[in-house]
Amino acid sequence: MTLKIGVIGTGAIGKDHIRRITRNLTGGRIVAVTDVNAEQAHGVVQSEGIDARVYDTGLDLINAPDVDAIIVASWGPTHEEFVLAAIAAGKPVFCEKPLAVTAEGCRRIVDAEIAAGRSLVQVGFMRRYDQSYRQLKKVLTDGVIGAALTLNCAHRAPEAPGFSGDMALTDSCVHEYDVLRWLLDDDYVSAQVIVPRPCQQAGVEGYQDPHVILLRTRQSIHISIESFVNCQYGYDIQCHVTGEKGIASLPEPASVHLRHQAKSSHAILVDWKDRFIDAFEVEFQEWINATARGEMDGPSAWDGYVVALTADACVKAKYSGQIEPISLPERPAFYGR
Ligand code: NAP
Repeated sequence: MTLKIGVIGTGAIGKDHIRRITRNLTGGRIVAVTDVNAEQAHGVVQSEGIDARVYDTGLDLINAPDVDAIIVASWGPTHEEFVLAAIAAGKPVFCEKPLAVTAEGCRRIVDAEIAAGRSLVQVGFMRRYDQSYRQLKKVLTDGVIGAALTLNCAHRAPEAPGFSGDMALTDSCVHEYDVLRWLLDDDYVSAQVIVPRPCQQAGVEGYQDPHVILLRTRQSIHISIESFVNCQYGYDIQCHVTGEKGIASLPEPASVHLRHQAKSSHAILVDWKDRFIDAFEVEFQEWINATARGEMDGPSAWDGYVVALTADACVKAKYSGQIEPISLPERPAFYGR
């Protein structure tokens, strides 16, 4: 069976997803697209050479009879409305992060999905599909280094055009919040945010970069994340787990080791898309496969909600200077363990 997919939002990532599903993956076909910029939506249909209808609105696309499943890749503030509409239509929906721009919005989605009685929602936390994170998780679950005690992580990008306010805490580090609780099979209980000397290259007076985010989990594991989104030198994601019997580190992206001109070196990536391109492919192939089987096995609406609560606690901690509790409501049985 071929899954007939409609895509809402044909901007940067929407276009990439259309291209990968059309050219690289199997089992899915883009049959419908929409964007507030209709010209752009028509342009993607043309440039990709796909036989897809362009709808006027996201709601029209969701309710189109020939659309089996939906990808939401529009601007964040539109996500909640489209995900709720897909649930109301009884259709599986893959939503790029954020699930909604507020924790309350995420909770409304969780409640609607539970009321619908079927798992329909997946959130675009693609790091769970990255080979290096999967290898690291296997080392931890196999018990190779014993129980995890502390994690030292970094999320560094060369620059962050368009970033303002607390976006490092609410927009980019959401990937750490999700992947680390998945890696440890744990939840957070508190957050603290340390604000070091700001770097000059952040540019705007009063704009803070870097941040150090300290999270504590239910199992009392201590996590430190350095978020530095104007680091200049490259796109560099680090995760080192100290366990009872050793240290396990996230594998570095493969690159040729050079001994050249009196230097020994490895290249460092500069673009997040290059770092996670394989993860996106695996993420969508697995989503298509599971959806075609009538299942949903990726990051859930509950995971999207927990990440939103974590981001809120981090913002609060940044301004209070205190350790802020992360009080998660009880996980509904609907979302399993
Ligand atoms: P983008 O290039 O701005 O694309 C968003 C598109 O959605 C734009 O074409 C926008 O049109 C359109 N749009 C806005 N409101 C709409 C509506 N009501 N109906 C239909 N289309 C609408 O942004 P992007 O970089 O692709 O990001 C899209 C989403 O993906 C964001 O939520 C972002 O956080 C997420 N994302 C996730 C990752 C990841 O690592 N998983 C990476 C990148 C982005 P206009 O431009 O005309 O407003």
